[in-house]
Amino acid sequence: MSALEQVDPDVAQIIRFEEQRQQQVLEMIPSENYASAAVMEAVGSVLTNKYAEGYPGARYYHGNAEVDRVEDLGRERAKALFGMDHANLQPHSGAQANMAVYLALLNFGDTVMGLQLDAGGHLTHGSPVNASGKQYNFVPYAVDRETHLIDYDVMERLAKEHQPKVIMTGATAYPRLWDFKRAREIADEVGAILIADMAHLAGLIAGGAHPSPAGLAQVVTSSTHKTLRGPRGGMILCDANLRRKIDSGVFPGSQGGPLMHVIAGKAVMLKEAATEEFKQYAHQVVANAKTLAQVLLDAGFTLVSGGTDNHLLLIDVTKNGLTGVEAADALEAAAIVVNFNSIPFDEHGPRVGGGIRFGTPAITSRGMGEAEMQQIGEWMARVLRDVKDSAEHARVREEVLALTAKFPARGVPVR
Ligand SMILES: *Cc1c(COP(=O)(O)O)cnc(C)c1O
Repeated sequence: MSALEQVDPDVAQIIRFEEQRQQQVLEMIPSENYASAAVMEAVGSVLTNKYAEGYPGARYYHGNAEVDRVEDLGRERAKALFGMDHANLQPHSGAQANMAVYLALLNFGDTVMGLQLDAGGHLTHGSPVNASGKQYNFVPYAVDRETHLIDYDVMERLAKEHQPKVIMTGATAYPRLWDFKRAREIADEVGAILIADMAHLAGLIAGGAHPSPAGLAQVVTSSTHKTLRGPRGGMILCDANLRRKIDSGVFPGSQGGPLMHVIAGKAVMLKEAATEEFKQYAHQVVANAKTLAQVLLDAGFTLVSGGTDNHLLLIDVTKNGLTGVEAADALEAAAIVVNFNSIPFDEHGPRVGGGIRFGTPAITSRGMGEAEMQQIGEWMARVLRDVKDSAEHARVREEVLALTAKFPARGVPVR
């Protein structure tokens, strides 16, 4: 019996059931993935016991020789992998990374531009319910009503009109490529700092499957657990001249002691993400998403922007007479896990959504390829044809479980 089973059988059982769920379902939430067993071993280590406020070589606690080495190792790997001058691995999450950067670069009330939320922007890019939207004056830029592509001419016009100090790029639900070069030109025209929030894209960028913001964005923020397949957490990269400001925005600006066990997990993730195998993974994620898009288009669905260039897709389910929640509920009954989401110019509120958002990072980590995408697209079409047909959902579920049993999820024990 494990220590956990002995001490707390309730929590142990919940974890076992969650392991089973993660093995059984098709996990298609595009921000989720499977961390490797090596990453989880580092995160489950004794480094959780150590206080290390400060940075390597300049801590406010003693006994940091070993954790200094792991944080330095991780920072060097991050700089090399993403081609940036400086890395900070301490943010507890992607949201914390963004808030620390705002604190470092802005005064409260300053103007920032970010992608409109229903066009795929993140909460931390100025949502009125988030501290970003309360503390700073966010001016949203949008996507084109027809193409659903970011309209950089509008971004430029708004930048000239509002003179932001910072322009945020990056999104949580945008299926196309970012033009960081154009965004930097716009930022330079108005003297703004360009930030690329690559939370969703970090793994694709590391693997060369999406253009890199290095050399264009002065600051890059990220989550570490999405396409990058690391432990749950955040990260900031920046140009050399911003190093001091950014570091102090994290600590002491907005955090206390760093999670050294998670930083060790990030170091392991960064080693894994620099391999040839990871490059192939990143390209396969995109190839799988494109195949899935084609299957769904052939089945008559309407995709936001008409398809995808990255790891994620959005279906406009209003065209099927559904809300996002209805569609996502039906799919979950069939063991296909997606999330409901706003779509550009959505008429539903964010708690219902006119779309579903899903992607290929986690299922590609299981080793699934284009043949499986064909099958999954057909299952999605069968489920969404009639969201009330629970007998059909149960039939699809059986087929899904037969498939997932053949593709074990890495890092998740099979019991
Ligand atoms: C996921 C995400 C974040 C926040 O990351 P957390 O780790 O969940 O805090 C920030 N920005 C974008 C664009 C994201 O997609």
